Amino acid sequence: MRVLGIETTCDETAAAVVELRPDGSGEILSSEVMSQIAEHAAYGGVVPEIAARAHVDLIDRIVRRALDRAGVRLADLDGIAAAAGPGLIGGVIVGLTTGKALALASGKPFVAVNHLEAHALTARLTDGVDFPYLLLLVSGGHTQLIAVNGVGKYTRIGTTVDDAVGEAFDKVAKMLGLPYPGGPQVEREAEHGDPRRFDLPRPMLGRKEPDFSLSGLKTAVRLLAERIAPLSQQDIADICASFQAAIVDVLVDRVRAGLGVFRAGHGYPSALVVAGGVAANDAIRRALTRLGTESGLRLVMPPPSLCTDNGAMIAWTGIERLQAGMSDGMNFAPRPRWPLDLEAPRVHNGKA
Ligand code: ATP
Ligand code: MG
Ligand code: FE
Repeated sequence: MRVLGIETTCDETAAAVVELRPDGSGEILSSEVMSQIAEHAAYGGVVPEIAARAHVDLIDRIVRRALDRAGVRLADLDGIAAAAGPGLIGGVIVGLTTGKALALASGKPFVAVNHLEAHALTARLTDGVDFPYLLLLVSGGHTQLIAVNGVGKYTRIGTTVDDAVGEAFDKVAKMLGLPYPGGPQVEREAEHGDPRRFDLPRPMLGRKEPDFSLSGLKTAVRLLAERIAPLSQQDIADICASFQAAIVDVLVDRVRAGLGVFRAGHGYPSALVVAGGVAANDAIRRALTRLGTESGLRLVMPPPSLCTDNGAMIAWTGIERLQAGMSDGMNFAPRPRWPLDLEAPRVHNGKA
């Protein structure tokens, strides 16, 4: 089985072809990603209208290239999958409409994919992880702990009550005058900073409910930066290191709480899976690796290129859903908001 996947929910225009091998594993035949970072950098964040126009500009070329690099034609595919949300409505419409048009023209089944489900299932493509597992999804827009019990069977057991982790990284970078996107910049600065110089808050630490809160930490960084301004290069590095250390402590503690809730309600997880752009952070990867070792849990972190937005994860989710006998109609409407644990009627524009 071969599926084309299309991703346009945020600021990456991406398409990929993934093949299901007879042994149940997946092979990425092609994966094309065009990031629009340069277009948005001047504004310090993603501008929805600019994103939508860029998707329109790029989508045909990206899809064509994904098919060419994979060496397949539309007729060789067994299905077409496109992310239908959650995300920025303009971009979602571009990808979803393209996917539907290709499915209609080729007569292939169509799958409308939840972008979060795609992040959640990536570890099955990269590492063949078995259900059930605990997913820590940490990206620019989401920070959640999810019990993944099967295709379409997700229970959210924890979430942020305010900012997402990636968003906190981006905002802290902005405060310190570092360019967008902030996560990699903060990590780079932190490498030569002192994580013990500033004692920043670790919100929610020790709580039983595996939720997150990051706005207090973000505000503490802002007040600190204002108090010691003007900032030297070393000040910036030390603030980044101290901020990153606080994030690491919070994530480890919250995942521990999540494991407790998982074991109580869903049995023993086969793995802890970390996904989303923030999973590219090395300090976070190291801390979670230690947590995995200490709790006897298999830790799976897909490579950074598959942690950030890409088309392969959409194609793979298409494969998983088609295998489970699920496909969608041409009347599937975009869902700018679409929580993962809500199996709303898929043919209806349910505002979730
Ligand atoms: P979502 O998937 O929730 O819709 P998104 O598409 O913006 O959001 P991703 O593309 O998965 O999210 O990840 C981007 C986020 O990851 C940004 O906030 C970015 O700052 C953060 N990020 C990327 N690399 C790192 C890093 N090395 N350290 C910390 N954060 C990082
Ligand atoms: Mg992104
Ligand atoms: Fe994403």
